[in-house]
Amino acid sequence: MKKRILLLAGGQSGEHEVSLMSARSVLSALPRDQFDVTPVVISKQGRWLPPTETQRALESGEAPTGGDLVLHRAASAEGYDAVFPLLHGPMGEDGTVQGLLTLAGIPFVGSGVLGSAVSMDKVMTKQVLASAGIPQVAWALAVRREWQTQPDTVRERAAALGYPLFVKPANLGSSVGISKVARPEDLDGALTLAFSLDRRVILEAMTAHKPREVEVGILGNDAPIASPVGELRFDADFYDYETKYTEGRASMHIPAPLSAEVAEQIRTLALRAFRALDCAGLARVDFFYVEETGELLLNEVNTMPGFTTTSMYPKLFEAAGLNYSALVTRLVELALEDR
Ligand code: ATP
Ligand code: MG
Ligand code: MG
Ligand code: MG
Repeated sequence: MKKRILLLAGGQSGEHEVSLMSARSVLSALPRDQFDVTPVVISKQGRWLPPTETQRALESGEAPTGGDLVLHRAASAEGYDAVFPLLHGPMGEDGTVQGLLTLAGIPFVGSGVLGSAVSMDKVMTKQVLASAGIPQVAWALAVRREWQTQPDTVRERAAALGYPLFVKPANLGSSVGISKVARPEDLDGALTLAFSLDRRVILEAMTAHKPREVEVGILGNDAPIASPVGELRFDADFYDYETKYTEGRASMHIPAPLSAEVAEQIRTLALRAFRALDCAGLARVDFFYVEETGELLLNEVNTMPGFTTTSMYPKLFEAAGLNYSALVTRLVELALEDR
């Protein structure tokens, strides 16, 4: 019997278009002799689009308005063997959709409510990983209300971290709303931008030097495996949105040219982080490697990483001998596995 898979794509976050690109790749890669796949695009307004509109959105790369409310359509997800929530960012990668599917009793690809929510929030991730003894940059939390009522306490927190520093919305991705702040005069603008996108903002000390950016893929549930390590290189001050999504601005190097010891350390730390955060299925764990000092710092964990055929996560497993189609098939198997 073919498995019936519901593929969710699009969604309400700033990473809507990225998700549609990933979904097109997954759709054409799931073997048709094993799976009967139904895509449903979620509009930016959070409505689940009917088949013809879904098709149009997948082809054009953008979602029209219309469609049904999530809760209304969730009931119709019954009858599927599994859901692939190929959604990035808030309202998709953050445990909300995972909660809906858990309530509906439908198995799904990737982390559950806990792992998704904790990994999406950069502050919560840092707290959990600190308690697991994983090295990270120094950081501080600020919430919107503090910024509105006691801005000087927030400015003091920034000063204590030193400049340059990074200001980021705690729950976002694709570098949306992130600023590298070189001087105190530029702090307020960066905070205003980040708080326009999130109630919680993280301030992060910058690594001692411009870091090398290395990433590793994790695959599995409670016996996860790590891929080879990959590296991203780009010609920009940091890996911002434009550099991420402009063709030809960044290059991927797999395996990353690193000593065997450092590569093994990265894989070990990534597996430890995956367990500490209660992730499942897949994650891409990103690190900063400061060559000058030899420091290895965990930056973040993405529980639903970019998933086009040319994205880092599938490329990492391809290098490990698992092609794109075998990888998505494996992810569905993991979703159906008893844990
Ligand atoms: P993704 O699209 O991978 O989910 P994101 O939006 O969650 O990314 P981060 O990975 O936290 O954002 O930061 C984006 C980029 O900013 C990093 O890849 C790196 O280039 C730079 N950066 C972020 N924090 C630091 C830091 N503390 N020190 C040095 N560089 C940093
Ligand atoms: Mg991220
Ligand atoms: Mg992300
Ligand atoms: Mg990142």
